[in-house]
Amino acid sequence: MQDLEYLEKQFAEEWPQVGDSGALQSLKDRWLSRERGLLSLEMKKLGQLDKEARPAVGSRLNQLKLQFTERLEALQQSIREKEERQRQLRETVDIHLPGKPALCGHVHPLLQVKDEIESAFMRLGFTLFDTPEIETDFRNFEGLNIPRDHPSRDSQDTFFLGGDHLLRTHCTGVQIHAMRQMQPPMRVIATGKVYRRDNPDATHSPVFYQCDGFAVGKNITLGDLKGTLEAALRELFSPDIQVRLRPSYFPFVEPGAEVDISCIFCSGAGCRICKDSGWIEILGAGMIHPRVFEHVGYDPLEWTGYAWGMGIDRIAILKYGIDDIRLLYENDMRFLSQF
Ligand SMILES: [Zn+2]
Repeated sequence: MQDLEYLEKQFAEEWPQVGDSGALQSLKDRWLSRERGLLSLEMKKLGQLDKEARPAVGSRLNQLKLQFTERLEALQQSIREKEERQRQLRETVDIHLPGKPALCGHVHPLLQVKDEIESAFMRLGFTLFDTPEIETDFRNFEGLNIPRDHPSRDSQDTFFLGGDHLLRTHCTGVQIHAMRQMQPPMRVIATGKVYRRDNPDATHSPVFYQCDGFAVGKNITLGDLKGTLEAALRELFSPDIQVRLRPSYFPFVEPGAEVDISCIFCSGAGCRICKDSGWIEILGAGMIHPRVFEHVGYDPLEWTGYAWGMGIDRIAILKYGIDDIRLLYENDMRFLSQF
């Protein structure tokens, strides 16, 4: 009985020192483990006692066991609550901390310019026409009066895909697509990627964007072409710009012209960018060649039309003062986030 009193005192000293669930488990094992717990060991000693002493000691032992068990259960409950409070405290979000800014995407500068060009011409009555990036030789070259021996057909310049197919080198093939599918009169533009076998540098890229447009009707003149381009280019750059046509040659137009705008940087006074000429070359244009009409089964004596093609990258470069075309394709966030 004295041993038991000693054990009770011992337990009373030990349990208040338990502070976490690990220590609690050790204490439980030490006292209540069925095999080696201190109370179990006492139980095992019962057999060595006198018959008269046994019941009293046994019942005292059971009492202690119950008492210890209840004490440890209460302790477990309070430790659990304390640890839960600590966990919640650890995981609490400090709403005073500045948040991480969420990155929000926006339209790429090149596609912004593409959208602007499309809407400028669509407001003038043009229809947007989608054409495939893989073209046939006929739609990219032959039908546009680009003969077999023309330098742009050189494998140095064009990605041939085998057979009759190639990656389009311009969007001009839209003329063949649209004229075969629709009845004149028509006003059509097409925009999209085109491909050339160029090594990338500040002014060249193997893939870039173009916009091609044309109109077919009766008695369409070079004046209609100039007026249309003037209206669209003034919307794209500034209402003050001047537009001029210089004679030039493209196989699919006759006559052909280079189209310049007055320099948007010096207003025509002359600067580094316009090489002191006051003019910037912006696109190529002309009256649709009779042979193109013949290729799609239109009578060139009945129908007339104009066509132009412009590099969207070039417009973007001029509009934003970009000095390297590769910036438009490298997806460098430091560059893109400026737009
Ligand atoms: Zn200039």
